[in-house]
Amino acid sequence: MALSLFKDADTLYEQALDLIKQGEFDKARARLMKSIEKDGGPDDISAVLVGMIDLRGRLGDIAAYRNLLDALKATRAKEFTFGLTTVNIASMIVQCELAIEEIRTFNMNGPSAVLLEKGDKLLKLAQRYQAEVGNETLKTNEIFLNDTTRTGIREGLVLFAMGYESLALGTVWDDPRKAAEYQQIAYGYRKQVGDTGEANLKLVNDYSRTCRCWFCGRTASGLGIHFFPISSEISPMLRKDDGEPLRSEADDYGAIYACRACYTGISKRADDVAKAYHAQAMSEIRAVEARLQAEISALWAAVRSVR
Ligand SMILES: [Zn+2]
Repeated sequence: MALSLFKDADTLYEQALDLIKQGEFDKARARLMKSIEKDGGPDDISAVLVGMIDLRGRLGDIAAYRNLLDALKATRAKEFTFGLTTVNIASMIVQCELAIEEIRTFNMNGPSAVLLEKGDKLLKLAQRYQAEVGNETLKTNEIFLNDTTRTGIREGLVLFAMGYESLALGTVWDDPRKAAEYQQIAYGYRKQVGDTGEANLKLVNDYSRTCRCWFCGRTASGLGIHFFPISSEISPMLRKDDGEPLRSEADDYGAIYACRACYTGISKRADDVAKAYHAQAMSEIRAVEARLQAEISALWAAVRSVR
């Protein structure tokens, strides 16, 4: 078969479609770029396919989604086929916009106020996925990850869970009980997508717990946030049951509870002591080193003098 040197845009395009089916994405991309050079009509979806190819392995990259989005908005075509999957242009535009917003929101991190804002944004995104994508599968997951289980409804459930988890994180500093309620809601969503929700339940339990600090006697709620266990040995003499419902020690008497203030105070002091010991040990090691060096030099001098 003679190889044509001047392939027209349609031929290049047809070849590219076959190459995509075969998984030859780099070759397909080259053909598509040539086809765009020769003929980029209003219905041309070569740029869309290039955008799709470039999205491969970059599903967390906003720039890749934005390039694809530009191409999707530029074409007048209604749908395109990538490999074996037919994709509706209008719904792909929605999915790209949601994906960009989702990546941006996932990257939000910071103090409580930011986590609360992140939580609210995740809940709004969850609603949009359920309303605007619904039972459709997420095309990028279907095409690039072979995953047809991710529908808009399911993505929404996951984002609802993450949203309430973020609200819990943003609230726990000021109001552990409210944070426990948020974790409880998140647990419900986790169960709906088939997760165990164990991590949520543990936090519901931790955030709801209250102790009396062993050291200062203050009441603190929120295990792991406002009070901490410190491994200890509580001899029977010290185990008085005075009917006090708030405990200062673990049930097995292997730990005492310290409020955050006492805990961080003790930890910081212990760190300072450890640093002082470390500095002292290092200076002693250096002194020994210097003495050994001096002895080695003296030995060398002696050896040289006998030669
Ligand atoms: Zn305390």
